[in-house]
Amino acid sequence: MTKQTLSFQAEVAQLLHLVTHSLYSNKEIFLRELVSNASDACDKLRFEAINDNALYESDTELKIKVTFDTDAKTLTITDNGIGMSEAEAVEHLGTIAKSGTKDFMSKLSGDQKANASQQGQLIGQFGVGFYSGFIVADKISVESRRAGLTPAEGVRWVSGGAGNFEVEAMERAERGTSVTLHLRDDALEYASAWKLKSIISKYSDHISLPILMEKEEWKDGELINPSDESGGRQPGGMVKTGEWETVNKANAIWARAKKDITADEYTEFYKQISQDQDAPLAYTHNRVEGSTEYTQLLYIPGKAPFDLFNREKSAGVKLYVKRVFIMDDADNLMPTYLRFVKGVVDSSDLPLNVSRELLQESRDVKAIREGCTKRVLGMLEDLAKHDKLPAPATEEATETAESVTDVQTAEEKAETEANVGKYTKFYKEFGAVLKEGLGEDFGNKDRIAKLLRFASTTSDAASVSFADYKARMKEGQESIYYITADSLAAAKNSPQLEVFKKKGIEVLLMTDRVDEWALNYLYEFDDTPLQSVAKGAVDLGKLQDDAEKKAAEEAAETFKPLLAKLKEALKDKAEDVRVTTRLVDSPACLVVQDHGMSTQLARMLKQAGQ
Ligand code: ADP
Ligand code: MG
Repeated sequence: MTKQTLSFQAEVAQLLHLVTHSLYSNKEIFLRELVSNASDACDKLRFEAINDNALYESDTELKIKVTFDTDAKTLTITDNGIGMSEAEAVEHLGTIAKSGTKDFMSKLSGDQKANASQQGQLIGQFGVGFYSGFIVADKISVESRRAGLTPAEGVRWVSGGAGNFEVEAMERAERGTSVTLHLRDDALEYASAWKLKSIISKYSDHISLPILMEKEEWKDGELINPSDESGGRQPGGMVKTGEWETVNKANAIWARAKKDITADEYTEFYKQISQDQDAPLAYTHNRVEGSTEYTQLLYIPGKAPFDLFNREKSAGVKLYVKRVFIMDDADNLMPTYLRFVKGVVDSSDLPLNVSRELLQESRDVKAIREGCTKRVLGMLEDLAKHDKLPAPATEEATETAESVTDVQTAEEKAETEANVGKYTKFYKEFGAVLKEGLGEDFGNKDRIAKLLRFASTTSDAASVSFADYKARMKEGQESIYYITADSLAAAKNSPQLEVFKKKGIEVLLMTDRVDEWALNYLYEFDDTPLQSVAKGAVDLGKLQDDAEKKAAEEAAETFKPLLAKLKEALKDKAEDVRVTTRLVDSPACLVVQDHGMSTQLARMLKQAGQ
């Protein structure tokens, strides 16, 4: 076939423009992306070869090679993975197939135009993958042959990263892909063994395949003219020896012992799998033994992704079976309300050829999901516990405390301090999603309820837990009172709060869209019923004194004829009209029936077109 020139899909062209214009601050990530593609390609080959061993041809040792040529100013990443056919090269390197990426692009170019630094952040959140090569290269050529195709069916893809790319068929004996970057003049530093090794160990140590580089050794300059002033030598330099060395640890991080893994390594692995540029908020790494055996390495990100509220989106948990990569974003390993969790689960029990359909029915998967859910909730409980520094103990208390518990070591103290504020941060980003768990995960409802935080009439910040609230309840108060509204201001100014304000009773202010729905599933907390102040005749129980009750009853009697008239006049609009004790300053307010749909929920359903 002859050479074809094709243009990039509009989104790609847009993305390329962003890559070359706003990603200059952290150039070196291009290598992480290309190495990770090479590693993915090897994973895919291994996976397809489970059912078709012939795909290995005669080359079973999967590996990645990184080479460079200082004179030609090129850097090449080669793998013997699955490779691409011509059609695949056109599709994968010319379009953006992933719907999430498309959303992202429309977000970048949509109505709220992001500035350059926001763009950089957004890009970091989702990763630019292959196209990041153009941060350092003004031309990229890819040569590839897909496993299973003949050597004549190789493909060469070349692009300068502007509007189009060229593809042509080529002869290629080796299976797999070589990506050659023609380095820009301001990126020549990447044609250096030392630089490349340091980037690889920073980002790609955990890649479970060997990454090979050619060994170099120092060679003295050659003697040319002994009478020359310089001693007659050409300058010496590093020369390639033809021998290869493995430059990464080549060991899946989750399979290593915890004690041998540094915090930096955990962070780097997180960045690799999450495409987040920032460190995670917390992680948990465990090997679970018993009837279902697996290893879990799970992370809580520091920031919510832009599509957090897309419930269709599966959690970013990768599934491995005995170190063999099986699939990204495996469904069923995490409940939907924990879809923000990223990480890896490596099972010892599942078959290698497990499909998404099979995952749904597997009892092992169910056990893994339950185990992972418990771990994540445990991790959150831990963050919540350390969110605030313990109040400075009074002298008396210190004395007794010391006799009972061990004094914190300096290390423990530093760790405690490092954790302060993390839960607040977590909750700000993910709290609304966590609430979905009340309706989704009945088994863990109580644990989830304990993790929830709300604003209240005593706190504008969403920092009040049900337990805090209970501890502050008035003598004789029998319910946890709450109100739902569209905004904090609307909640705070609701006439329904008047009597509570007057009596100094705290009311939780719930302003997340999901609150109304979620609270349908939570009737009580720790044996104390939850009661909406916007429903029915609020029963203040023992909080109402007898005089008030009597006054209300008398008023009801006195106003009976008036109430009857109002009821008649409003008969299509209101169920009932009654005298209330809930108002102090306002003359009237609307409430819903005890078991009626709240106004907030009704509004939400209406918005959703129901
Ligand atoms: P992602 O890796 O997130 O899918 P990339 O932009 O990094 O996105 O890569 C796009 C696609 O190009 C990959 O999904 C894959 O199909 C293909 N690809 C990239 N590099 C390679 C490679 N070394 N071998 C085979 N296919 C590759
Ligand atoms: Mg990639």
